Amino acid sequence: MRLVVIGGVAAGMSAAARARRADPSLEIVVLEKGPQVSWAACGLPYLLSGRVNRPEDLIIRPAESFQRERNIGVRTGAEVAAIQPSRRQVALCGGERLAYDRLVIATGARPERAVAGADQPHVFTLHTLEDGRRIRAFLEEQRPRRAAVIGGGYIGLETADALAERGLAVTLFEAGADLLGRADPELTRRLAEHLEGQGIELRLNTPITAVEDLSAAGAPAELVILAARLHPNVELAAEAGIELGRTGAVRVTDRMETNLAGIYAAGDCIETLHLVTGGPVYLPLGTTANKTGRVAGANAAGARERFPGVAGTMIVALRGLAAGVTGLSPAQARKEGFQPTAVHITAEDRSRYLGSRPTLVELVADRRTRRLLGGAVLGERGVAGRVNVIAAALTAGMAVEQLAQLDLAYAPPLAPVWDPLLLAARALLKELG
Ligand code: FAD
Repeated sequence: MRLVVIGGVAAGMSAAARARRADPSLEIVVLEKGPQVSWAACGLPYLLSGRVNRPEDLIIRPAESFQRERNIGVRTGAEVAAIQPSRRQVALCGGERLAYDRLVIATGARPERAVAGADQPHVFTLHTLEDGRRIRAFLEEQRPRRAAVIGGGYIGLETADALAERGLAVTLFEAGADLLGRADPELTRRLAEHLEGQGIELRLNTPITAVEDLSAAGAPAELVILAARLHPNVELAAEAGIELGRTGAVRVTDRMETNLAGIYAAGDCIETLHLVTGGPVYLPLGTTANKTGRVAGANAAGARERFPGVAGTMIVALRGLAAGVTGLSPAQARKEGFQPTAVHITAEDRSRYLGSRPTLVELVADRRTRRLLGGAVLGERGVAGRVNVIAAALTAGMAVEQLAQLDLAYAPPLAPVWDPLLLAARALLKELG
């Protein structure tokens, strides 16, 4: 029995590792077209800022150790050109064919490069370890002073912040009106204020379709990072007859099965179920890639596991500010047919006599059902913990009353007696009447 996994990063390696635990006798082969498997893309911004010293520091586990320690065969430089489901085999670039009994597709996503002039030597994407290496070398050798980052999602924000930390003058361009891809003017306003305070110039509603546009926009740059959008790598799957979903990513069941028997998919190439809307969503994140990879690996090896879906939780870490979001913003909720009402409160993140700082909490609920629909937390400290509580409440389908009554922790140096989340929930109850 042979399991073949295409793609050797978060989803692919999680699938391989989980399959090995589920079935010690399974033959497992991971095919990765790049030079590296098992590395932490999420650490790339810190390689740019210098907080991570060397690209190698982002490698979680060297390729050889998988064979030695887990009996997982890893082949790097092995690109799959086609999947042939009728023969249960994959064809590699170069002509070799490899049979499978079970297949996990974990081909990830790729950043948008459709900007005229993107092939110039000072224009990069930040997606692979090689990208990180090249940008870091460019920073050290060319010593650019002005950078433009295109895309106001979390990768664009973290990249802009990392370059500013290095001392570059940074302009961040976003084609739409919102940051973090979340139709949320209040969140965008607060983030924009913070960026400005850090000396990062933000241009919203400014689509960049050519590198030359930057000079015309008064922001000529010696370094350009394209971080506008991610596209799921679905071509291999689609050509093999695997169905895509409404979002354009691979459609899978909660067991990560595709429509073809014996073929599973996981990570940034799939869409998942949104726990609040109940519909499909494309939210490519490392957390989800690891979990869906595990589930795909377990089921491919004969165990039975399921992935219930995502609440849409995400956090971005900038110097001096973290912004965490989960569920729906008011505008997103309206678009989904809810009747949202929202509050924004600013509260102390710990007891004042121990040096508290303000934390902003946004909570969104449905007027009809009083169910919590989403939230955001912005602050210097404690943001992950608070946004995670909201995510748990969303997952449990809590009403605002239940959130307001949660038994949350209090100790003066860590959190105030009335946690900002509880204050926000009380304010939302008042709104709901
Ligand atoms: P990928 O990591 O894209 O891996 C897919 C692999 O498949 C690639 O190595 C590719 O070479 C290989 N492949 C593709 N096609 C083929 C083929 N035909 N044959 C063989 N191999 C193939 N997520 C978070 O949750 N939190 C964060 O803070 C965070 N920060 C990030 C910061 C940056 C700069 C980036 C780029 C991403 C960040 N992410 C973060 C997202 C996270 O890294 C991804 O969601 C995760 O890596 C997806 O894993 P994956 O295995 O699905 O896909």
